[in-house]
Amino acid sequence: MADAAHYKVIIIGSGPAGFTAALYTARADLSPLVLEGAQPGGQLTITTDVENYPGFPDGIMGPEMMEKFREQAQKFGAETLFKTVTEVDFSQRPFKIDAEGTHYTADSVIIATGASARLLGLESETKLMGHGVSACATCDGFFFRDKEIVVIGGGDTAMEEANYLTKFGSKVTVVHRREEFRASRIMEARVRENPKVEVVTPVVVEEVLGTEDGMAVTGVRLKNVETEETFEIPCEGFFVAIGHKPNTSLFEGVLDMDETGYLITQPDSTKTNIEGVFACGDAQDHVYRQAVTAAGTGCMAAIETERWLEAQE
Ligand code: NDP
Repeated sequence: MADAAHYKVIIIGSGPAGFTAALYTARADLSPLVLEGAQPGGQLTITTDVENYPGFPDGIMGPEMMEKFREQAQKFGAETLFKTVTEVDFSQRPFKIDAEGTHYTADSVIIATGASARLLGLESETKLMGHGVSACATCDGFFFRDKEIVVIGGGDTAMEEANYLTKFGSKVTVVHRREEFRASRIMEARVRENPKVEVVTPVVVEEVLGTEDGMAVTGVRLKNVETEETFEIPCEGFFVAIGHKPNTSLFEGVLDMDETGYLITQPDSTKTNIEGVFACGDAQDHVYRQAVTAAGTGCMAAIETERWLEAQE
């Protein structure tokens, strides 16, 4: 394992929280290092239009927005690396962080590891992943031009993906387990008003159907939860959009987390149970989960880190 330089601040993760923390700590002259992780730029790089980030009245594409976040942090001296952290040791200071063969040390750490798409957990879903099953419409929608597509979920992600997928598919069926949608009214209305979308409720997925060689999806078997009736609908694209889980397995047994894995921070603060380790963004927030709130808590983490480092001197 190669030893690398020591940093005052290392930021793990590169979504709106991580890059905002980088921007603020860089401007505070702390020369932060950002270890970007497996999905540089975070979840917004696999989304389409971001219409609700203040300051962009015409909307902005997620990947472009994250490029701007990165650029802005780098402009003030943040160092960013496309590396994924494999192990942390917060038992003593300086903190130790291993990332793909390099060993880093840091006086303080800001965790901004975000969250990842949740899956249904069906064997057929796993088997057909990448062969018709996807959790990212932006990444894979293109492959389903003029094909029938099913989207699972009743939240804003499912609505956004369903609408987006109508650009490609001949028909998009939204499948949700309840009659009521969790999605915001405007997003649900857009889906319901889209002539290419059909909404099927209250049904759950029993199985994703595929060709014998497991190389393509052919349909889905569904069950109406009220009538218990099972039925099949044909499709070639199967998109799961049922929410996210925090990327915090690295910190199990080290940092306090709730039963679903969200890091617990002190009230009105980004402080974790370990002094000098701060957490922000979706890894810590299961309530709002917005780019703008992630950026907000990234800013909080940076300010708290700066104050904490100052107090150590
Ligand atoms: P949500 O948690 O809001 O919604 C998840 C959906 O998936 C729910 O309808 C839920 O059903 C369903 N679901 C969960 N588990 C299962 C399962 N095992 N089987 C079947 N269905 C399941 O997640 P989202 O990703 O949609 O949104 C997260 C946050 O991001 C929200 O705050 C949202 O507003 C925001 N967002 C905003 C966007 C925008 O404004 N442009 C775009 C995308 C997201 P049930 O309701 O029954 O629990």
